Amino acid sequence: MSLLSVIIPCFNEQEAIPFFYDAMVKTASDMKETWPDLEFEYLFIDDGSRDNTLETVEKLREKDKCVRFISFSRNFGKEAALYAGLENARGDYAVTMDADMQDPPSILPEMFRAVKEEGYDSAATRRVTRRGEPVIRSFFARRFYRLINRMSSADIVDGARDYRIMTRRMVDAIVGMREYNRFTKGIYGWIGFNTKWIEFENVERVAGETKWSFWKLFGYAMEGIIGFSTIPLSMATWFGILMSIISFLGILFIIVKKIVYGDPTSGWSSLVCIILLIAGIQLFCMGIIGQYLAKAYLETKHRPIYIARRTSEDEDKEKEKQ
Ligand code: UDP
Ligand code: MG
Repeated sequence: MSLLSVIIPCFNEQEAIPFFYDAMVKTASDMKETWPDLEFEYLFIDDGSRDNTLETVEKLREKDKCVRFISFSRNFGKEAALYAGLENARGDYAVTMDADMQDPPSILPEMFRAVKEEGYDSAATRRVTRRGEPVIRSFFARRFYRLINRMSSADIVDGARDYRIMTRRMVDAIVGMREYNRFTKGIYGWIGFNTKWIEFENVERVAGETKWSFWKLFGYAMEGIIGFSTIPLSMATWFGILMSIISFLGILFIIVKKIVYGDPTSGWSSLVCIILLIAGIQLFCMGIIGQYLAKAYLETKHRPIYIARRTSEDEDKEKEKQ
């Protein structure tokens, strides 16, 4: 017998969850035909939703004992929800997927085959198109992936989704990375393992709306760069060296001018501009250092990645007592 944990982060997904559950159960019964000894558990992570997400999940749980949930005390973000799911999954395999059906359950059998029979540690998906997405967002997303892959040793795939199945060993490796500032796409790249990539066309969400604004995505991109590259820090050094060389040449120029023409003090307005430029660059570099310092500061507090308010295990215990 083997158990597959399906981890679903949900933030205000009351409309999407029933669609998702129906589609998932259908896929699961198809998969049981191919692999008769396969069992499922559905682990919903309610990321501090303000609608009836939790009630919707509890209703499913009354019908189906394979449904479990963890409900957060507030919104901790998708990264925290994914972590909570992986940490609490009991399966020999775990798959993370969105509640909005943008990660179609229909490709799950193919993904499962890769880890079960083809010897991969993980099977991940990437969308080949970004159809239905705002043009500006796609543009910046592409620039971001190019930039981060130049700057970081972690291999981060453009268009990769968080829809990924993995073996217990890989789940344990991820759970072992307890950093507070999480960027899962980078973590997957960093831990290695052999991954099969499965491509699919972008699907639009069935119900509800996206939780990501442009600025939220921008912040996420920054998190990724700062979390997986220290190149911005060394950039400050290179800026400094470049500036020193330029000013050294400038000084030489002035000395030669003084010796040849005897007038070192012309052009004070250009001097002011140069001072302002250098001050600007210095502040910019300090800002970069500040960003890293802020991340290091948060990291040293060792705060928990998420706080659960209620879980299905609590509920079971209450029932036992009664
Ligand atoms: N999500 C979450 N916490 C958040 C934001 C999103 O758990 O703070 C979940 C959301 O419920 C969904 C998944 O992450 O299941 C992907 O979110 P969404 O569909 O809004 O992102 P998009 O597909 O537009 O990138
Ligand atoms: Mg979505």
